[in-house]
Amino acid sequence: MNTIIKKVNYDNPEESILEEASNFIKNNEVVAFPTETVYGLGANALDENSVLKIFEAKARPSDNPLIVHISKIKQLNDLVCEIPPIAHKLMDKFWPGALTIIFKKKELVPDITTAGRDSVAIRMPSHNIALKFIEKCNVPIAAPSANSFSKPSPTIAKHVYEDLNGKIPFIIDGGNCNIGLESTIIDLTQEKPMILRPGGITIEEIENVIGKVELHKSVLNPKEKVDIAKAPGMKYKHYSPNATVILIENSTIDKIIKRNKNKKIGIISLNKNLQINNAKIEKMELLNSINNLSHDIFKLFREMDDHNIELIIVDKIPSKDLGISILNRVKKAATHIE
Ligand code: AMP
Ligand code: MG
Repeated sequence: MNTIIKKVNYDNPEESILEEASNFIKNNEVVAFPTETVYGLGANALDENSVLKIFEAKARPSDNPLIVHISKIKQLNDLVCEIPPIAHKLMDKFWPGALTIIFKKKELVPDITTAGRDSVAIRMPSHNIALKFIEKCNVPIAAPSANSFSKPSPTIAKHVYEDLNGKIPFIIDGGNCNIGLESTIIDLTQEKPMILRPGGITIEEIENVIGKVELHKSVLNPKEKVDIAKAPGMKYKHYSPNATVILIENSTIDKIIKRNKNKKIGIISLNKNLQINNAKIEKMELLNSINNLSHDIFKLFREMDDHNIELIIVDKIPSKDLGISILNRVKKAATHIE
């Protein structure tokens, strides 16, 4: 399959390109598109054959449900049985934006989209191109991240092309994704609201609106064994570069370098003044804010692979705000934490 890739202007998305892309969706095909979190691989969420193509292109296991993206709140009524009052509060504050909400689903939503669950995950993205594209498609769009399964999520169109060239017909190139991490997922189908995945909206921001929320144990300990793939990475390896990743919690970079003298090493750190003496470091990435780290972490994983780095050392990350979301992704990618 030939993969078409077309650049689209953020503020004034070219109508003709969005039309071309939406025609693929109308013909039961998949299209990769930018959002403020990461690039998504979209298809008509209400059509089984279309959604199947997402799973095939990504080689994604079929028991891993998809997030359904909408461009208008009124689309919710077709998809969900009820909208609890707490959902209204969250939608008022965070939609459009990087928050995915899990509702009880209506029958119209096919099993393949929700991996057989009686609930459905829904998000309204804030990215101007994503909103206009979904609107043009005139159907809700199921979309996981547009990477090959288990690779780091794509935050520029080139990443999508590297993973899915020849497997999908169309990529909308909207430049960089602002946030660089996937959405936060909150489940409102149980008695108490529960965060299943930390992401672009912080837990603190959510608690400011609806009070204390529960955290699924995989939020802080994503590698802990769980029975079902309720949230991403809970069951499967995710977000991994080819290189071994070590996350530092208590140890020091020097100690790890000493043990790995013969390896090609890359370092990612929030310490701007970090200096390494007595060792050759292939790639040193010093980020000056947690927002920049969130924006760049998946891209850096991919770049380190491009440089054939064998060991990526991720320096300490504070466990608060966006740091919780970044730590969740790095822990999933890490071989170990020390
Ligand atoms: P991603 O793979 O980044 O698109 O994330 C989608 C994730 O949302 C899936 O891996 C699921 O774990 C989670 N998800 C989607 N639908 C549901 C649902 N109905 N119940 C619980 N989690 C869901
Ligand atoms: Mg993903």
